[in-house]
Amino acid sequence: MKYRELGTTGLLVSEIGMGCEGFVDHEGALTDELMDLAFEAGVNYIDLYISSPDVRSRLGKALKGRREAFILQAHLCTVWRDGQYQRTRDISQVKESFQDLLRRLDTDYIDVGMIHYVDSLEDWNTVCQGPVLEYARELKRQGVIRHIGLSSHNPEAAMAAVKSGEIEVLMFSINPCYDMQPAGENVEDLWDEKNYAERLVNMDPGREALYETCSRLGVGITVMKAFGGGDLLDAKLSPAGMALTPLQCLHYALTRPGVATVLSGAHTAEELKACIRYGDASDEERDYGEAFAEFPKISWEGHCMYCGHCAPCPVGIDVASVMKFLNLARAQGSVPETVREHYEALPHKAGACVGCKACEERCPFGVAVAEQMEQAAGIFGK
Ligand code: SF4
Ligand code: SF4
Repeated sequence: MKYRELGTTGLLVSEIGMGCEGFVDHEGALTDELMDLAFEAGVNYIDLYISSPDVRSRLGKALKGRREAFILQAHLCTVWRDGQYQRTRDISQVKESFQDLLRRLDTDYIDVGMIHYVDSLEDWNTVCQGPVLEYARELKRQGVIRHIGLSSHNPEAAMAAVKSGEIEVLMFSINPCYDMQPAGENVEDLWDEKNYAERLVNMDPGREALYETCSRLGVGITVMKAFGGGDLLDAKLSPAGMALTPLQCLHYALTRPGVATVLSGAHTAEELKACIRYGDASDEERDYGEAFAEFPKISWEGHCMYCGHCAPCPVGIDVASVMKFLNLARAQGSVPETVREHYEALPHKAGACVGCKACEERCPFGVAVAEQMEQAAGIFGK
């Protein structure tokens, strides 16, 4: 398992994290098995949105004696009403549910306290001007939550939260189909067939800007819905008209700027194992470039997707990484210090490019790589 920095929180998180879907299925019966599997594989990041008392208690038991081995991302604003999970901004309910969470998990701290499901600017304003954010700040001052996060499917609302400086972690829905869709307040629209009727060209600029801004400001992204609820793995259900593999979906999310971990939904131990395998998978298995180029309804022509399909470069340049750093610098209008540091760490710089264009022959999206390397060498000075 590889680990990444979660923005500027100081936390090192496993590239593959685990969502709590598997705890919910079968009334939590899989909790022990999934937690044991995660522990043994080095999966240290667990998302817990569910408010079910039983599931929380089962997870508390599974954490006994190994709480410190896991980084818990648990949600504020989810409550248990009439036998099901609900979202609320009612502060007395928020407090009651969060205290119940601590009790049932038998812990006195949560690593990332996630303000749950903010999908509109209006809701963000309610959260940040009202008691919910104040409560999150108070918990942070007390050390009960170590970092404040927020979950969203809407790039507009998420961007407002990220730019506010109030959050350190963003849980966001990322997959190649969502990434084509403009901002909206209804998550169902992201999968609506009518939004895929016309051929879609290149990713939504608002989403691209969100990931770049998170990377620049040091807000760590934790990814949900990397498989589109499983639909992206099935040609009949995928809005793109063809199926991807779990490894391709994971690699796509993990190659977006700012992303630290992808949460596997893990309805079964087999599903979690399929995601854990990402750590040992070959470059070929992870590569989504050719698959994307065959999508009948989506085109990324001329746009670097950071897929790495153009490797190997005869002089050793990691084209995907150089392109990512170049685009981050362009988005900022200058070279951010963190980007410069990452660029400096590359063993072969863009200036080493000999213009052979072997990469361009392999790039499925027709990116003019040699020209981009020249520009990168100019911007980074080497
Ligand atoms: S230049 Fe093309 S093949 Fe290389 S990383 Fe970018 S999109 Fe992928
Ligand atoms: S054009 Fe430059 S980056 Fe591309 S393969 Fe040749 S040397 Fe490498």
